[in-house]
Amino acid sequence: VHHLPTADDPSASGLLASLTSKDDGDTRVWDEALLSVYASVGLKSGCGVPLRFGGRVRGVLVLGFTPGRRDSLADAEFTRSVAYRISMALEHDRLLGQAQRAVAARDRALSTVSHDLRSPLSTIQICADALLDPEPAPLSGIREMGALIGKSVTWMRQIVEDLLDRASLDAGTLALHRQSTCVKDLFGASRELFAPMATEHSIDLVLHEDADLPSVNADPHRLLQVLANLIGNAIKFTPDGGRVELLAQAVEDDLTATLLTGKRGSAVRFTVSDTGLGIATADLTHIFERYWQSPTDHNKGAGLGLAIAKGLIEAHGRQLNVESVVGSGSSFWFTIPVTNGDVLQHYGNGATV
Ligand code: ADP
Repeated sequence: VHHLPTADDPSASGLLASLTSKDDGDTRVWDEALLSVYASVGLKSGCGVPLRFGGRVRGVLVLGFTPGRRDSLADAEFTRSVAYRISMALEHDRLLGQAQRAVAARDRALSTVSHDLRSPLSTIQICADALLDPEPAPLSGIREMGALIGKSVTWMRQIVEDLLDRASLDAGTLALHRQSTCVKDLFGASRELFAPMATEHSIDLVLHEDADLPSVNADPHRLLQVLANLIGNAIKFTPDGGRVELLAQAVEDDLTATLLTGKRGSAVRFTVSDTGLGIATADLTHIFERYWQSPTDHNKGAGLGLAIAKGLIEAHGRQLNVESVVGSGSSFWFTIPVTNGDVLQHYGNGATV
């Protein structure tokens, strides 16, 4: 048994470089490299055929001939046909792995969603049973049940809408209705949505926007959805007594546009930060994946919130960023361009231009 040179062997380096290059490589390099491979195992000549799968050359099948053997055209044909079969088998294996991973992700999603829908459904069932009780509860109890049913339905609708949003983001069919959007109105709506939850958990909810911020070019409903997801998470993962901040600042995020138009301050930067649990560095790469939740997270949710928020910001042509320190808190931020023609009058430090 002869061992071919390993990757770090100089005699194989030319062949390797040729294999990993974008095209099929320089045939001269191939020839030289193959000759050195034959020489290294005491062969006279041979054929080398690349093995391609997954759209790339991943290896090479070499048929070498001993000095006494005469090579012929049939040998090259034979090598090519074996290489083709090997490539097909490897490609099948790759596609099968891909399909198995997709099925596993779908099963995981289905089980997460069914699990999430189970609790509001059982709340509705309990309320329905109580309402059908031959000795019904007093009127105030019935109203409470009505409120519980309402809350459960809102929760279930949210899960279904999240699934639909993520599916249309994936399919690229989510329609954004961009318009001149007032930051002050977004802040008003966020305060209204989250002040009760913050008070309930004794969390200091601070909203601060720079003075005279221009309107931004965004879909107001979708932008509020992103802010709501980030603020909701911040409150959820911050222990009682902590602090959650929503900031909007004027920034210059596009220097080229600034130079071309002479206008300064082309975007508004939104930041949601908290003094909560923080996110482990290893988890930072996963939090934007759909259906991902930290293994230590026992909160409700399908793990879709951040995946949708990221998709929505990307649909606006920007990126959702995060920084976090375990035990100190997390900070999520993104920028949105100002409405065309709107120029910032003030900057972060309050200086007027
Ligand atoms: P869900 O929709 O279930 O809330 P998300 O996609 O919004 O899921 O969040 C995914 C995971 O990211 C959460 O389960 C949590 O572990 C982590 N996470 C998100 N925001 C924060 C935050 N502000 N602080 C700490 N962990 C967070």
